[in-house]
Amino acid sequence: MTKIDHYPEAFICPVCRAKVDRMGEGYHCSACDMIYPVLFGIPDFRIRPDRYLTLEQEREKAGKLYEFGKTATFSELLDFYYTITDDVPAELAVRYKAYINNAPRLAALTVKDLDLSPDKDVLLDVGCGAGGMLIAATGQCRAVIGVDIALRWLVICKKRLAESGIDAMLVCADAEALPFEYGKMTKIVAGDVIEHVYDPVHLLEVCEQHLMPAGQLWVSASNRYCLGPNALTRIWWIGFFPRPMRTRLLKRLRGVDSLRYINLVSPGYLKQLLGKTGLQVVRAGPRQVALVQGCDYPFQDRVLIYIYQLILKSRLLSHALMWIGPAFEIMTEKPVDRNVP
Ligand SMILES: [Zn+2]
Repeated sequence: MTKIDHYPEAFICPVCRAKVDRMGEGYHCSACDMIYPVLFGIPDFRIRPDRYLTLEQEREKAGKLYEFGKTATFSELLDFYYTITDDVPAELAVRYKAYINNAPRLAALTVKDLDLSPDKDVLLDVGCGAGGMLIAATGQCRAVIGVDIALRWLVICKKRLAESGIDAMLVCADAEALPFEYGKMTKIVAGDVIEHVYDPVHLLEVCEQHLMPAGQLWVSASNRYCLGPNALTRIWWIGFFPRPMRTRLLKRLRGVDSLRYINLVSPGYLKQLLGKTGLQVVRAGPRQVALVQGCDYPFQDRVLIYIYQLILKSRLLSHALMWIGPAFEIMTEKPVDRNVP
């Protein structure tokens, strides 16, 4: 099993920012008396749930997955997740599963871009989901930490890491209230997470606080103004519609407004938000893609990905693709002279 440094050693209370103490199976903050449990081997530092389930519903769902996972493979567990998740239509579940299975290959491109140092870098994956980035980054840096607000996804991620022989630190926490000391991370990746948080600017500010000076934050997101099918719904031009019309359209076509809690962002808008945080944009471009031979994307998607890869090879078209393509990525850096709070 690949062993990773468990770093940082101490957790911080996300409510009052005091150091927490180990108490039995969980953690206790003596300054504000908050108790944080460890569930299914994962510390749970959440002070609010994501926007889909309450904390109780979420822990119950994570428990179901944990029980199922005791005798199932990662792939079977992923299938099981979508059988107990009502608001993802079957057509989308197929694509989400393909995306998750393909994720380590895709993340390997980002890892290459981050130019990680095995002696120096501490990488935090905010919104790590099923762990594609953690798998790709293992062995490339000193420590790898995966954080997600969805305990259910961390249970699935833990199963996948175990199958891959990887022992990374997983922490359940709100990306906007992380349980770590400020200024300890050299790299933070936030792939496809800014769309899902409560406050996108706050997420960027928190990432900036957790970076060491000269540390880098890499962000990727779906593009609101994509001229093809929207990455989250597969519906063409949906981001251009005003909210009430979008909701009506999604309910009619999909039975549920799957964008109801999504922050729709574009490259220009994200750059504006970054401008408020002190993080400097190093480069921006269309999201890189990697297509694994034999992966389970539907035929139509494989054709689109193939065309996308061809366009990426042209410098001029590639620049245009950032503004009108399905997804984009931005690398930012914390200025060397910027203080850690
Ligand atoms: Zn506290």
